[in-house]
Amino acid sequence: MLQQTRVDQAIPYFHRFTEQFPDVQSLAQAERQDVLKAWEGLGYYSRARNMQDAARSVVNNLNGRFPDTPENIRALKGIGPYTSAAIASIAFGHPAAVVDGNVIRVISRLFGIGEDVSTTRVKKEIQELADELIDSGRPGDYNQAVMELGATVCTPSNPDCLECPVSLHCTAFNTAQTESIPYKAPKKKVPHHQIVVGICRNESGRLLIALRPEDKMLGGLWEFPGGKVEPGEQHKQALERELKEELGVETVTGAKLTEIKHAYSHFKITLHAYLSSITKGEPKAKASRELRWIRPDELQDYPFPRANRKLTEILQTYLASL
Ligand code: SF4
Repeated sequence: MLQQTRVDQAIPYFHRFTEQFPDVQSLAQAERQDVLKAWEGLGYYSRARNMQDAARSVVNNLNGRFPDTPENIRALKGIGPYTSAAIASIAFGHPAAVVDGNVIRVISRLFGIGEDVSTTRVKKEIQELADELIDSGRPGDYNQAVMELGATVCTPSNPDCLECPVSLHCTAFNTAQTESIPYKAPKKKVPHHQIVVGICRNESGRLLIALRPEDKMLGGLWEFPGGKVEPGEQHKQALERELKEELGVETVTGAKLTEIKHAYSHFKITLHAYLSSITKGEPKAKASRELRWIRPDELQDYPFPRANRKLTEILQTYLASL
């Protein structure tokens, strides 16, 4: 829950979630929809799905016993090096060093690493230094102490070096480089597109989805019809234009269902999803390979790009609440 979400936001979710699913068995056996419902509002629903898949694999493959080494913990779905090291060290006393943004800052300053810390090579170097530094007698305390040092003392700007317990050993402090370390190469500004999509439902409650052309980006995946907002356009105007171009129908835009941000490797999007009613015409696949009217419970059966997949989850929760 704490990946991408602040502690104060996560606390009430944590209490509700652990009351509803008090152990790994109950989480593994729960209906997916119940887990997603308990997660509703936290966003990044893949975390909930991954956690339940991990619970299922603990129950089905590991006799209900949570693994206790970083390698085996990392084999669970949704768990990467950071989380596995945190769990292994804090819960099981395994000497696995946690490396997050705070730790990167502390270690790079401590050792005076002036190179770009966002590169894989430097990150690996920092992980190796962190692994050497870890106190194997109290690895959980050590990890939490370094993260806390980074969060409270060795802050990005104006670190409180005079109060810092490791200042004597700190290269950046002793060579007046705390301003320039850690160094991150400036990121190139990536384009950010506003995308509008329409959720069209027919009288029997089926939803309209479109198959992207094979030769386009995300080809072969399904999506809700829509497109890019052109400069100067309102969302409603853009959506009704797009649906006319893509489906050959007249529509009226209804309530906004959600807004989803997503970053691809070379651009970002904000996807605005609206309920749409077709007022004239029969939809035709003018810009897609195929159109289908599907039942909401069939959404899981179709491959969707990430942002649309997020939308299907939100949509299913919304439709279930009707
Ligand atoms: S001495 Fe300053 S720069 Fe070095 S670790 Fe401590 S707070 Fe960070």
